[in-house]
Amino acid sequence: MKRLLALSLAAIMTLGLLTACGNQVAEQTNETGKETNETGEEAEGTEAESAGEISQVLEDGKLTVGTNAEFPPFEFVDDNGEPDGFDVALIKAIGEKLGVEVEIENMEFDALVASIGNKIDVAIAGMTITDERKENADFSDPYYDALQYVILPEGSEIATFDDLAGKTIGVQLGTTGDFIASDDVDGAEVKQYNKGVDAVNDLINGRLDCVIIDKNPALVFAAKFEGQLTAVDGEQFDFGVENYAIAMPKGDTALAAQINGALKELKEDGTFDELVKKYIEEN
Ligand code: GLN
Repeated sequence: MKRLLALSLAAIMTLGLLTACGNQVAEQTNETGKETNETGEEAEGTEAESAGEISQVLEDGKLTVGTNAEFPPFEFVDDNGEPDGFDVALIKAIGEKLGVEVEIENMEFDALVASIGNKIDVAIAGMTITDERKENADFSDPYYDALQYVILPEGSEIATFDDLAGKTIGVQLGTTGDFIASDDVDGAEVKQYNKGVDAVNDLINGRLDCVIIDKNPALVFAAKFEGQLTAVDGEQFDFGVENYAIAMPKGDTALAAQINGALKELKEDGTFDELVKKYIEEN
């Protein structure tokens, strides 16, 4: 259960930091004159934001964005072969606010964080903020709360976290569902797939006992096999809340301020809610 605790702690710390940023930061300065939060760390973004600095990443007028278009409704390949979904629409709207063209690179989920700063500028992929990822990337303000779900075949006797012990569990490689199954569940045989849908197909074929994957894709996948599969709420398994955010290059406070600023505007002007309605609630 260590991982679950770590994830929840990360979520709580994120919340704490946000509250700190909102209230006290502006008053405090350290010796270098930079704004700090309560723990004395530099408060990310605030300086760049007030200076209206433009990140070097955006100087060419283009934002190259990595995603893994296998995660409906956040990202999928549409009927014309183009990446679409909530995240794709959101980052395009952010690009519009920042006046840059957005180019989407579809790649494996597990390769996204390592590609920031070389193949891609940022990643948006229903990506949960985790301490491990934070070692290699910075995260934007969180934009969506998520939870792992368990997809079960009809009639399965799995109902609690302890029931997962020793089971054959399908996950998407390198995801938080993978970390739970691999690190926290006792004696599980974990099968890692590059595409969540392939895990779901193996569940249908009887090769797996269950699939652990994020709530919204779990609901989409289970609905495709109505009568054969059910997506069970992760609360029943004591899974902690996760926060999705955009992964960005480490230390680029100007970019963070620009992206967070655009995100805030999109929430304020109703665009964000429209996208939630279009891609998540009406599906
Ligand atoms: N939210 C999960 C994670 O960040 C899964 C994301 C995904 O598969 N696109 O690990």
